[in-house]
Amino acid sequence: MPTKSKPARKSTRHRTPELLFGDLWEFDPAPELADPKLKQSYSLYINGQFVAPRSRKYFDSINPSTEKQLARIPAAGKADIDAAFSAAQTGYNKYWAKLPGKDRGKYLYRIARLLQDRSREFAVAESLDGGKPIKESRDFDLPLAAAHFFYYAGWADKLEYALPGVSAKPYGVVGQIIPWNFPLLMLAWKIAPALATGNCVVIKPAETTSITALKFAQIIQEADLPPGVVNIVSGAGATGQLIVNHPAAKKIAFTGSTEVGKAILRATAGSGKGLTLELGGKAANVVFDDAPIDQAVEGVINGIFFNQGHVCCAGSRLLVQESIAKVFVRKLKTRIASLRVGDPLDKNTDIGAINSKEQLDKIEQLVASGVEEGAELFQSSCSLPSQGWFYRPSLFLGVTQSHRIAREEIFGPVLSILTFRTISEAIEKANNTAYGLSAGVWTDKGSKILKMSTALQAGVIWANTYNKFDPASPFGGYKESGFGREGGKQGLCDYLKIVP
Ligand code: NAP
Ligand code: MG
Repeated sequence: MPTKSKPARKSTRHRTPELLFGDLWEFDPAPELADPKLKQSYSLYINGQFVAPRSRKYFDSINPSTEKQLARIPAAGKADIDAAFSAAQTGYNKYWAKLPGKDRGKYLYRIARLLQDRSREFAVAESLDGGKPIKESRDFDLPLAAAHFFYYAGWADKLEYALPGVSAKPYGVVGQIIPWNFPLLMLAWKIAPALATGNCVVIKPAETTSITALKFAQIIQEADLPPGVVNIVSGAGATGQLIVNHPAAKKIAFTGSTEVGKAILRATAGSGKGLTLELGGKAANVVFDDAPIDQAVEGVINGIFFNQGHVCCAGSRLLVQESIAKVFVRKLKTRIASLRVGDPLDKNTDIGAINSKEQLDKIEQLVASGVEEGAELFQSSCSLPSQGWFYRPSLFLGVTQSHRIAREEIFGPVLSILTFRTISEAIEKANNTAYGLSAGVWTDKGSKILKMSTALQAGVIWANTYNKFDPASPFGGYKESGFGREGGKQGLCDYLKIVP
């Protein structure tokens, strides 16, 4: 409620724009208090057992909102990766390959239910380790992760309907590598279809966000999966390389940056390994002058500020029709100023912590390049917590297509705004990118939606909404955003080999 006289708390103080309220708003803290049940030190999960790393090496997982250590994470070395693949191969030969689809499905249902049971605990762990607001980990990451297991559980005994008239087999053992922006959700996107199709996995979470993956190992154990079916190994990029190059890995499924994706493409070329790459993006969110403006403003805000902008499919380039650009930008500025940046565990927080110092530096560098190249920067004047890695929600005006901020993935809460006059100019600008992961279209004309969705080179196109996901809907890229799909029937097929 508006309070003029009371001073705002330091960590969440926020000045709303005069044109909206003309006053200072203060919210009482609403901390999420569930116990994340963290351990001081984690173990690798290999062959159904929690084991110390043979490498004897550990690294710290840091809470990005406090910069304090949360836990010690094992850094798997060569001997650990060899053990994980050996366990996965045995798990495949001895148990998983022999199990009928309906029994694999039962395990997946069990995992989904166990994850739901512990969803609050996992949501807190995810927000502590990664920095995302609790309302997102609680209402998005966790429910969607469980939904992926439920969805693929249903497919496990129906694979012949996914590929009618064709004989298909699992790869056997697959290596999977995931990023830090949706740690548990990306794990679910990887593990659920792999197990449903009869594969065994060795999976590596990202260095800065290993905790929920290692906690998930407890669920695998509790679900009583046969040993070796799922192996979870933490570590840095070097551990990822060991997975990619391991001869027992018959397929690699990677989600991460285009740069590392290209290196993996080179490393696996000629090896006969299957490969799917889910890489970066620089999505255009296109707003026509006939769009429902306020709804579009919300969609653009959600498109770029969801998860601090650490989203591969973030609508990071707004293309707004020139005739409405002025009013649209004014409304965006007003809305941006009302976003609350702060403690990820506060239920009122809209924008949490930037995942790592390294990522914060990258955002700052790219924003500086935008200013240097002549774009006009607008940032919320909200105060930031004194500790931790935070960044103000920002937008750039006067952006041209050659600016780095229009071409490179910032992966932070920074929107680049360009304008267009005609539909063909919008299409040309939207497609003028090396990426092709997602796009958004805002208009009240169905015909424009159809035209745009045919013309835009992107794997996912949202119309009059943004960042909507469903396990039944395939997700993946074109061009430098990668190849292969996750979700839906297509996501199953990428874990199967067609056999003559
Ligand atoms: P990243 O640096 O490419 O890392 C991704 C994963 O690969 C991490 O587990 C990383 O380990 C590991 N890795 C690093 N170097 C490796 C190597 N040489 N060989 C094998 N593995 C290696 O990406 P990120 O910074 O974590 O994630 C952000 C990127 O992911 C963004 O570009 C984003 O767009 C993309 N992303 C794409 C999707 C999609 O579905 N298309 C979804 C989410 C994110 P360490 O963390 O230990 O370095
Ligand atoms: Mg962390």
